[in-house]
Order: sequence, then C-alpha cells, then structure tokens
Amino acid sequence: MAQKIDKLLINAYVICMDEQFRQFEKGAVAIMDDRIAAVGYQDDLQQEYQPEELLDCEGKVLMPGLVNAHTHLPMNLLRGLGDDLRLDVWLLGYIMPVEREFVNPEFVHLGTALACAELIRSGVTSFADMYYFEDQVAEAAAQAGLRGICCQTILKFPSPDADSYEESLAASEEMIKKWKDHPLITPAVAPHAPYTSTVDILDSATALALKYDIPLHTHIAETAQEVKDCLEEHDMPVVPYVEQFDIFQAKVISAHCVHIDEREMHTLQRYGVGVAHNPTSNLKLSSGIAPISSMLEHGLNVGIGTDGVSSNNDLDMFEELRLAALLAKGSTGDPTVVPARTAINMATHMGAKAIHLDDQVGSLEIGKKADLILVDINTLHNTPHFRNDEDSIYAQLVYAAKSTDVTDLMVNGRWLMRSRELLTIDLEELAARAQELAEEIDHFLIERFQSVYSRLIAIGGAEEQESYEVQVKVKLQDPEALITRLQESELEILYYRHYHEYDTYFTFDDPQEGWLRYREDEFIDSKGEVENIRYRLTLIGPERERHFPKDVLLSRSRFIAPAPHSLRFYREYFKPTRETFIEKDRRRWKVCFRNIEFFINVDRLDDPELGTFLEVKSRTWSLEDAEKKARVADDLLKLLGSHPKDAETLDYVQIIESKS
Ligand SMILES: [Zn+2]
Repeated sequence: MAQKIDKLLINAYVICMDEQFRQFEKGAVAIMDDRIAAVGYQDDLQQEYQPEELLDCEGKVLMPGLVNAHTHLPMNLLRGLGDDLRLDVWLLGYIMPVEREFVNPEFVHLGTALACAELIRSGVTSFADMYYFEDQVAEAAAQAGLRGICCQTILKFPSPDADSYEESLAASEEMIKKWKDHPLITPAVAPHAPYTSTVDILDSATALALKYDIPLHTHIAETAQEVKDCLEEHDMPVVPYVEQFDIFQAKVISAHCVHIDEREMHTLQRYGVGVAHNPTSNLKLSSGIAPISSMLEHGLNVGIGTDGVSSNNDLDMFEELRLAALLAKGSTGDPTVVPARTAINMATHMGAKAIHLDDQVGSLEIGKKADLILVDINTLHNTPHFRNDEDSIYAQLVYAAKSTDVTDLMVNGRWLMRSRELLTIDLEELAARAQELAEEIDHFLIERFQSVYSRLIAIGGAEEQESYEVQVKVKLQDPEALITRLQESELEILYYRHYHEYDTYFTFDDPQEGWLRYREDEFIDSKGEVENIRYRLTLIGPERERHFPKDVLLSRSRFIAPAPHSLRFYREYFKPTRETFIEKDRRRWKVCFRNIEFFINVDRLDDPELGTFLEVKSRTWSLEDAEKKARVADDLLKLLGSHPKDAETLDYVQIIESKS
C-alpha cells in the first residue's frame, strides 16, 4: 500500500549534497508538509508513495537551495550608488549620509522585498542578513517565504535606527523574542565588527546570543588596515582580540576573514565559527582575497555570501560560487584547490553549517526542510555534458550554469517560483517604488554634493562658523628684530606657541567654492620636539570681503572641522582640480592690544622657500566688529615697526601663484 505524501518530484538529476554526496540520475524527492520525506530513484519512490501532486522535473538538476551566508538585503535600494571608490570614501562619503537620511522601516521592508525577489531568481533559499530595522527584514522575508537569519546591527555610534548601542541591544532582544519560534526566521544579533564595537557591546551581544541560543553575526578582518589597527591598539590580530570576550562561545557567523593567519584559522575552527566568504565584495572594495583553501584545509566551515549589493552589485550566488572557486585557484597557483564539488558544497551544505542552520537545511536528506531548486542543464551554455565522471555535474553547475537556469524554487515545502515566475512577490510594483526612491536619493545627493561646503557638512563634524578674519601679511627682512620689538613692547602677551604646519590647499574649477585647507599642525615643545599633532579642515571663503588702507584685509566665511580622515580620503572625496602644498614654521603670540585679542604669527615658509612673513590676525563674528579691528590692526603694525608698504594682501597660495 503506497504511502500518501504531498508532493513527489520525479525525472530529476538529484544531487543531495549530503555527507556522502549521493546522486540519483533518474531521481525523485518526496515531500510531506514542510519536510523531505524521501530521496532516491524515481522507480523506487513512485512505488512507495502516492502523491497529492506529481511533478515531472524534465531532467533538470534538483538540488538543495543555495545559502547566501552574508548579506545586507535592504541595501538593494542603494545598488550602484558610489562605485569604484575606496571603502572609506564609499562608506563615509556616500552610503552613510544616504542611510542617515533615508533608512527607515519602510525603506528596509521595500529593499528586502526587492532583494528576496532577486535571491529567489538566483536559487537562494536561505540567507544570513545584517542591517538596521532588522525586524522589517524579517517581515519582508517571511512574506516572500524565504528562510533567513535576521541580525540586528549594533554599532558604537548612532545608526539610522538607534541613537545609542543600548537602544540597538534592546531592539535586538525585542526582535529575538518576537521571531524566535517562527518557522522561517531565525532572529540574531550582529555587533557590526570589533572595530565598530565597544567591549561592552561585544559582551552584551554575546550574552544575548547565549541566552537565546541564536547566531551572532559580525565582520572579521575584512581589510589589512583593520588588522594593522588592531595590532597597534591591542598588540594582537583580530581573532585573538575577539576571543578574549568569549564571543566564540556563541554560534558565530564571521564575514570576510580576508586577513587571518593559520593560528587564527585554528582558533575559529576550534570554536566552530562559520566563515562567510564574499569574493566579489572583497575584490570590488580591494580588500584582498580570503585564503579559503587554507581555511578549508583547517576544517573550517566556509560559506559563500554576496555581501550587500552596494559592494557587489547583485545577489547572484552562481556568480559568487564560481568566483570563489576561480579565485582560490588563481591566488594559490593550484588549479586543484576548491574543486567544483567543494564550491557547490560551500554554497549549500557547508554554507548551512557556516550559518548554523545545517540541522534544518543545506542538503536533501530525510527529515530536513524542503528547501530546494530545479536547475535547467539543457540550455545552450550547458550543452553538451559528460557523465563518465560523477563530479562532472558539479563542474557543470559551477563553471557553465547561470543563475537564470534556476527555474523553480521551494522553501519549507512551498513553491516560491515556478518556471521562473515569482509566486509570492509583485516585482513590478516593487521595482517602480525602488526607482522612485532612487530618484529621491539622486536629488538629495546632487543637492548635497553641489558645493564643497555641503560636501563638508555631509560627512559630518563641520560646523558653520560665519566668521570674519582681519589679516595682513608683511614680508620680514629681519624677523628676529621684530620679535625683539614685540617682546619689549607694551603689548600684553597672553601666550606663545610654536608649530610646524603642513598645509594642503584644494582649489576647484569654480573659484566661488573658495579653498579647502587640510592642515597638519605639529605642536613643538620648548625642547624643539613634536609634542602633539592636530589635523584640521578649513573652508576659506572665495571672496575678500573688504580691503582696508595699507592692505589690511578682511576675509569671510570659514568653516572649520577636525579632520579625522586621511588627506587621501579628502582628496578622493572632494576631487579638487588643483592642490598646493605649503610647509611652514610658525611662531605665534596671542596678544591683547587696546582690549582686542590678536594673533601675531611669524611664519617662515620652508616649502616653497619664500622667506619669513609677519601675519597679524584677528577673528570676529560681525562685520562691524571686523571693521573696527581692521583699523586697530593697522596701528598694531605700526607699533611693531613694520612697513605697511611691504604688506601683501594675499594668502600664501596666492603669494605662491603670483611668484610662479
Ligand atoms: Zn557585510
């Protein structure tokens, strides 16, 4: 008497991706409810089972659905935003300002729904995600019918969904409680990366992961810089640094691991940490090539991920698993490493192990969830095929097949795609909404990026200080004589400082933009040693507000910000048309003259060698006040015995330009 089941899929080339890598060329899979009831030859299964629904697979490959081990799904809405940029310029200059402005629960839901459509189309049935408002990722994925590990991001600085990490942790716990018994969604926690976490974040996230027995998803050793910083700050590489906080006691999904050594691999293996390898993202952001063949030799579970589409720019897992195989060969000089079967394993069973979901999915085995795909291997680019080697089917899937060959996809026993038609997602509506939003983002960026000033504001930290600066420069023939006069004068000296300054001035096509100055100030102590370094960014207004008699001049509108990033970052972000470099030795006195505070600078220009200048300066916030100071400055010059006829009305950049 045949046993009743829901579905029987016959006439398929079944590849199980179980521990024995079983294959059934005239194979079948029986499904009852959300689970696989049997896998085997169709002749046997047809005798054994009486299905509600019998499906002829037309000779297609029937295999486990793919596992995308690392994603940021809502970023699908930011596809193609800021390509061909360095990580910091891309992240700080484009992604983060846009995220601060646009990311909200609706954004996350829409982006995830769109991403789910793309995942389904490319044969993915499970993913491990990390983003903000992750509850909405879970909602959208559950609606689409996909299986996902949804991890709420936690950062040490404010994020689009939280002003503090305590808020993110609280949101994580809420989400975990809400979703923990859902058949498709595994809620989890995601301290973004060790370098964006505090010790408290790592401790609290670990405690949460252990309390609810859920995964902990993080980025580890993505760039060489991260490792260098970790070595400098903590005297150890990233993995041992993280190990101290007991984080590996949790079920960790560790994205990237591009820059880890063999000892670190051994540590990760010992704790059962899963690695998510993201070859396209690592190449596109120039992070490097993760040593996956070595990780595999160390017995690590390495899955494959696409990362967010912002650094990919798609969610095509077929492309990703092929690249994983090819890169491993190309980078080791050994074509035998990461053979096709291993690549498919990394995208299925081993991928499921890497995200700690292998008790449910990753292989076609009795009792596992019915998460599977059909792949048409009779298309032109798949023709012909050989069967003398049983591994040739894997080679065909890795090196010849494309994601568009995936025709049908099932998750939890439910069809989400039949004959490439999406059954749970209205793609047309989603795409239209995404395009509308893209236009809004375009508008925002065009506006934000139209001036140097708004670009400065967009990366944060700059505060507008509408100020006026009274200044005059006088070329000095005998600086020491002036200093003697200054010290012997009636002036009240408030303090004295000595600096060495390295200034890079950016200028732009439009002179109205003014100049942007990146200054490295070295404070020199009384022994002549550098005691402190300060980096500042100053936007100097284009126009001279007014000239006064005897070449005292007034400039306006300066915007000052600390400069936490490198000169290289600002160069790539602001894209100046020209750069002028000035190195000078500055001795500075702050004095009080007729109840007005002035700076008296004696600047020796070392590069280019232009001699020594006296600069008298005072900053003020009103034009009226500035005019008064300008007149007093003139008298101050007289007191210092400088000859107004020697005055130069120009700034150093202009002095250099006028002399060359
Ligand atoms: Zn990532």
